[in-house]
Amino acid sequence: MEINTVLEKDTFSKEDIIGLLLSEGEERTLLFRKSAEVKKKYIGKKVWFRGLIEFSNVCSKDCLYCGIRKGNKNLKRFSLSDEEILIAAKFAYDNHYGSIALQSGEVETNAVTSRIENLLHKIKELSNGELGITLSVGEQEPEVYRRWYEAGAHRYLIRVETTNESLYRKIHPDNKKHDFKRRLDCLKSLQDIGYQTGTGVMIGLPYQTNDDLAGDLLFMNEFNIDMCGMGPYIEHADTPLISSTGNLLPPAERFDLTLKMIAIIRIMMKDINIVAATALQAIDPMGREKAIKIGANILMPNITPGRYRDSYKLYDNKPCTDDSAEDCQSCLEARVSLADTEIVYGEWGDSKHYEKRRKGLTE
Ligand code: SAM
Repeated sequence: MEINTVLEKDTFSKEDIIGLLLSEGEERTLLFRKSAEVKKKYIGKKVWFRGLIEFSNVCSKDCLYCGIRKGNKNLKRFSLSDEEILIAAKFAYDNHYGSIALQSGEVETNAVTSRIENLLHKIKELSNGELGITLSVGEQEPEVYRRWYEAGAHRYLIRVETTNESLYRKIHPDNKKHDFKRRLDCLKSLQDIGYQTGTGVMIGLPYQTNDDLAGDLLFMNEFNIDMCGMGPYIEHADTPLISSTGNLLPPAERFDLTLKMIAIIRIMMKDINIVAATALQAIDPMGREKAIKIGANILMPNITPGRYRDSYKLYDNKPCTDDSAEDCQSCLEARVSLADTEIVYGEWGDSKHYEKRRKGLTE
């Protein structure tokens, strides 16, 4: 089918999406033009910040692709103190970021539950209730998610990584700790509790096909997510998946596929929040602004104290690990103005899709 005809449709079939993922030259330009138009119409030129605090690289999981996996003995483990986390949150508040995102490895203990609950209260207190808080600390029991919601977190990001269960099994150890169904159950309970719920996948994984990627986008649409965070898979030398490097697309192709995935989900889900992932910049120095131009509207400047950043290396060549929080902000401001976009300060920048979903309306 002609790409113009596909782009005029209200809903995409799997074949439509695969066609868009394969688009090249003029067709690719038409795809990006359309997604940029949709973004302009439904979101405007705006981009919101989530000050990212990567507060611990301690993880109980062993995902085969991830640099902070439990089995990586070459990594120095760290956890920020409560005071360090609160200072970083105060930095975000004083600089009018609107929101922060707290991210870490996955640990499920009563101590972690209470600690995060306590920190949420304190962050709300230090910001007069004004800082919005996104959590991204992995799989937990519904009761834990509920406690954190009641303590003030209102968005949660948990990537499903891939929605093809057999591919999921190939990139995770085969045990109960890495159960595909549980990950989906977590996403569902977050949505039921009332969080703005975000998910996403890695793009360009070994063994992944365009059919898988099209399935991922259809899943996110069907699930009615409010936020999306997708980025290219990038190898890490100290992980088991490094041995599958022979099956990989070249980085430039993984990058291009990621842009196409962002453009397509923007057309499919017009009013969701879409993150311009840091991993894009590990492949292309202008990666994040390219994503903003064709559909993304959320940036996550890293405000983790600089000395810890090197230890939160999920993949090789992670950018900005030696910057300070101030460096990150001015660098992103310059980058965003290049992308003809305006950073909004002092607003949460909630997903418009969420508001409509809660009111029972659909776009
Ligand atoms: N543990 C939490 C979770 O899984 O939701 C949050 C931290 S986890 C490290 C954040 C994300 O990093 C993962 O969901 C995964 O998509 C991404 N990630 C890990 N290793 C990666 C790699 N080698 N390349 C690209 N992204 C990676």
